[in-house]
This record gives sequence, structure tokens and C-alpha cells, in this order.
Amino acid sequence: MSQIDYQHVLDEITKEVQPLLSQGKVADYIPALAEVEPNQFAIAIHTVDGQTYCAGDCGARFTIQSVSKVMTLTLALQRYGDELWQRVGKEPSGTAFNSLTQLEFEQGIPRNPFINAGAIVTCDALYSRLSAPMHSMLESFRQLSGNAQVVIDKKVANSEYEFRHRNAAMGHLMKSFGNFNNEVDDVLWAYFNFCAIELNCVELAKAYNYLANQGKDANGQEVLSARQNKQLNSLLFTSGLYDAAGDFGYRVGMPGKSGVSGTILAVLPNQFTVAVWAPRLNSYGNSVAGIAALERLSQKLDISIF
Ligand code: GLN
Repeated sequence: MSQIDYQHVLDEITKEVQPLLSQGKVADYIPALAEVEPNQFAIAIHTVDGQTYCAGDCGARFTIQSVSKVMTLTLALQRYGDELWQRVGKEPSGTAFNSLTQLEFEQGIPRNPFINAGAIVTCDALYSRLSAPMHSMLESFRQLSGNAQVVIDKKVANSEYEFRHRNAAMGHLMKSFGNFNNEVDDVLWAYFNFCAIELNCVELAKAYNYLANQGKDANGQEVLSARQNKQLNSLLFTSGLYDAAGDFGYRVGMPGKSGVSGTILAVLPNQFTVAVWAPRLNSYGNSVAGIAALERLSQKLDISIF
């Protein structure tokens, strides 16, 4: 694997996806996201032996949005272990990331930790066990990405909070079923701040490298146990791209997590993490060029988890 010229492959992919950069629409449910220059693209690989490769707009930072849900789950699993699964399920939802309907039928237990309802209830659990949730989350990203200057884009966080009604409805519905312990608005404020953490592709691939490294960070410290890490990657494969997880798995063959800013993080266990960013989304809320780039990567390197 170390013989592979990753840089050459990433450069090639960056050229090949150019025609796709004008396809799809940037997220516009909040004004702060709609303002992004839409035709940008970056892709970065960080290997478990510490090598970084990047092509495209490597320095460009974006809010990581739902890719933060992976860190939320990680921090919650550290604190709760399997007890967490009393609050949130492990099944693919087959519905949109912001769907409310299943909550009503399933007694306020969200299907999985990656749809919004599941991430918000996981945030609620975390909120109960952290004295300063935003600080803890930022510190995790700062340490794991190797950039002590990582910040939260407050404009995006505030805008999300202002237009929070749908996510608030999920929180209140879960509270009505007894599956929510803190004030809904307090937890949402933390959730939106997590979503508004700003990274570039290199930092994102680095920060989540423990997912490819049996749960260990670059210093060999355990972020998750190997067993929890396997479980988290399995859930990413089945639910990381919501109701498009099947298509993503079929095309890319790796666990992945997408965010409405147009970023996707994918994991090749024991080899690398790869982060891609292209703001225009398809109708499922996933990056058009991002998915195409990862599909090409898996084809060109002839890799998958299978
Ligand atoms: N902040 C977004 C929301 O809660 C995250 C959704 C996403 O990235 N899919 O609506």
C-alpha cells in the first residue's frame, strides 16, 4: 500500500471531477451556508502511518456539519459505553437526515446516531456528562487534527440556531417520550456549535484517523476501544449517508459520513481516512462531486472494506 502514489491519484481525481462541480445545489436552509462559493473542491488522505496527501483547495475551511456527529458519538461512547444504545438505535433509517416521522412510531428512540434526531439525543446524553461541551468538542478536534487554532464559525452556529424549528421539534418530541434530559434549546445550541466547527480536508482526515487506526490516535492513545471502533465504522457504513447509505456503500465500498456543507469523510480500516469537500449537493443532501471522487478513489486504488 505504501508504494501507491496517492498524490498522483488525488490530482487525477481532482481533474476528472471538474465537470461535476457545477452540478447540484448548495445547502440553503440557512443563509450562512448559502453564501459559500459553490464550485470549490478538495480531497485529502491521511494514512495510519502519518502521511498526508491533498489536491484541490486544500487550505479552504468549511463547517463540518453532520460529520461532527461522529465525534459526538465517539465522546458519548467514551462516557456511556453500551448504555448509550438505550437512547438511540443502530438501524438504517431509510428516511431523510432531518425526518421526524419515525420518532412518533418508535417511542422517541431515533433509528441511529447519524440522523439529526439521533445526533441530537446523543448530544443530550453528552451534555449531561460534560461541564463544558463546546470546549470539550473543540479540544478533541484541536488535539486530533493537530491544529490548536480550530474554531467554531459563530455566524453559521447562530444562523442554525435561529432556524432551528425542525431540529427543535425532534428534541421536544423525544422529550415528550421521556428520551431527553436537558433543555432542548441548550442541547441544540451545543449541537449547532459542533456542526459549525471549521476544518479543511487535511485537518478533517487527520482528526478522524483513529477510525482507520483501530481506535487509536497518532500518538497511539486510545480514543475508542478496537471493539467500539469497529462498531462505529459498521454504523457509518449502514447509516452515515442516511437514505443514500446503500448507494454510497455500493459505489464506494467504505464507511462514510456526509455533511450538508458538502463534505464527506470515508474510512479504509488500517490504511487511511479520506476527506472530500465540494459544496453542491444532490437531493439527499450529499455532495455530488464528493461521492463521485470517492467512487473514483475506490476504483483507481482497487480498494474497499470487502
Ligand atoms: N446542521 C445541520 C442540521 O442540523 C446538519 C445536517 C447535515 O449536515 N446533514 O440540519
